[in-house]
Amino acid sequence: VVTLGCDVLTYVENVGGKLNAASLELLTKAKEIAATRGGKVYSVLVAASENSQEIREVAACGAEVILVYKVDESQLHNYLLHAEALMHAIMRVKPALVLVSATPWGRSLAPRVAARLGLGLTADCLDVYIDEAGDIVQVRPAFTGNLIAHIKTSTLPVMATIRSGVFPRPKPDYSRSCEAIIREELQKHTSGLEVLGLSRRKAVSLSDASVIVAVGRGLRKKEDVSLFGEIARLLGGEYAVSKPLVDAGWFEKERQVGFSGNIVKPKVYFAFGISGAPQHIAGMRDSECVIAANTDPSAPIAKYSDIFVVGDMYEVAQRLLERLKALNSRTS
Ligand SMILES: Cc1cc2nc3c(=O)[nH]c(=O)nc-3n(C[C@H](O)[C@H](O)[C@H](O)COP(=O)(O)OP(=O)(O)OC[C@H]3O[C@@H](n4cnc5c(N)ncnc54)[C@H](O)[C@@H]3O)c2cc1C
Repeated sequence: VVTLGCDVLTYVENVGGKLNAASLELLTKAKEIAATRGGKVYSVLVAASENSQEIREVAACGAEVILVYKVDESQLHNYLLHAEALMHAIMRVKPALVLVSATPWGRSLAPRVAARLGLGLTADCLDVYIDEAGDIVQVRPAFTGNLIAHIKTSTLPVMATIRSGVFPRPKPDYSRSCEAIIREELQKHTSGLEVLGLSRRKAVSLSDASVIVAVGRGLRKKEDVSLFGEIARLLGGEYAVSKPLVDAGWFEKERQVGFSGNIVKPKVYFAFGISGAPQHIAGMRDSECVIAANTDPSAPIAKYSDIFVVGDMYEVAQRLLERLKALNSRTS
């Protein structure tokens, strides 16, 4: 790909017609980098209609040009179409920088597209900036997080996946005008092809959740998570875990909160049986309200909590669940 070196392209994750909020955060950084280089902000989006709400949302958040790859509604989960769309958009826009969210979907999509185009890819970045020489530098943890690496890529465009939650989400302005270029050719190339495993799986998105019920090593066995998952469900949220539970092979990495997992900013964050190690705190410190339950009154998580309950997490959770069920039955 020959790049003109000014524009920034973001991939908007719209899997099955559900816009992932983390993709919109990319626009904050895209605007900053494009403004420094005198370029434009482009976004690429797979959508079922040229009038979809997602297009309005992306425009309101700062994209100047949106390449909309129109597909049948039944194909919105089709992984191959998303990959084709991103590749096609890169070839067409020839941007200086391509940003993709490091969600489970983005982490899978970006390396494949990079490999197909012969590009380097810096995964899981915490920042991107332009240095004094005018080069794009990508920042990411290295050596299990003991070092922060500043990386320049020798291939162009520079391509990076960015962790959810590291850039603020732009304030939408629905009066902004934006050019939408509708493309319909993808379907013809890939009709009949579908990656079933990936397309059918419901991805967990902690970055979108307004309530997170997180459990740590206080959890005695994997199955016990159902108690905490039920609280999350009743509150319209998601359950999450600390790193040791992922390391034990009990849960997927996409449920992990912390420095080497997801950075989250829910309205309410419950921490059940989590000690509050710095690497965990790094992932949830911007939560609006933190409620923790721990048997150890001196657990560090207490310092970061708005409400700290000293007690057994199972007992506290059971009582909370009963109260929520009672409230629910009164309101329904
Ligand atoms: C490079 C690096 C990156 C890391 N990244 C992450 C990351 O992204 N996310 C992350 O979470 N960690 C991360 N860690 C690990 C981190 O340092 C901690 O080891 C981890 O967060 C501890 O998890 P925990 O709080 O669940 O377990 P512990 O520290 O063992 O704490 C368990 C807590 O549960 C309490 N407890 C036990 N039983 C009960 C009960 N019945 N009721 C109530 N409370 C109970 C205990 O009092 C204790 O406070 C990273 C470490 C490194 C070196």
